Amino acid sequence: MSPYDERCPDCGFRWSAVDVADVPDRVRGATEEIIATLSAMGLRVGERMAPGRWSALEYGGHVRDVLVTLRERILLACASPEIVVAPAMFRDERVDLGFYARDTLETVTAELRALAALFGRSVACVPAALLGRTVLFPGRDEPVSVAWLCAQAVHESEHHLIDVREDLARTMA
Ligand SMILES: [Zn+2]
Repeated sequence: MSPYDERCPDCGFRWSAVDVADVPDRVRGATEEIIATLSAMGLRVGERMAPGRWSALEYGGHVRDVLVTLRERILLACASPEIVVAPAMFRDERVDLGFYARDTLETVTAELRALAALFGRSVACVPAALLGRTVLFPGRDEPVSVAWLCAQAVHESEHHLIDVREDLARTMA
């Protein structure tokens, strides 16, 4: 199965169902919903609600860093006619090493808003002829295309919106 035909086992997202032209608005929409959800959690935004979960603030920081990482991978793929290997994101290490320790509701929401806007502008600048360029990164067996990377930004923001909404629901349970 090509990466494009996959369906997320958790949220049902299908990468192939995303129109690249819709990516800027969908990323902006989902990140605004994440911002609203984090803001609604008040002082509990930094609390890990269950074992194996990040805090809502950490999920927000993760989406912020995903947008940075995906933008770099898109750029790398567009600039490289040959398939190249992008660095790993080290998603768990970022949290475990304490790189999110000084994040606050104010910094994460401002950064999410700025990164969603930057990511959307960047996607709008990708020449259509380069959407099929590919890149490999650790954790995947097959290269993924620029179009997949654009769709992945939608997936990550919409998928983790579900996570933070679960956390908000737990604060009200
Ligand atoms: Zn998902």
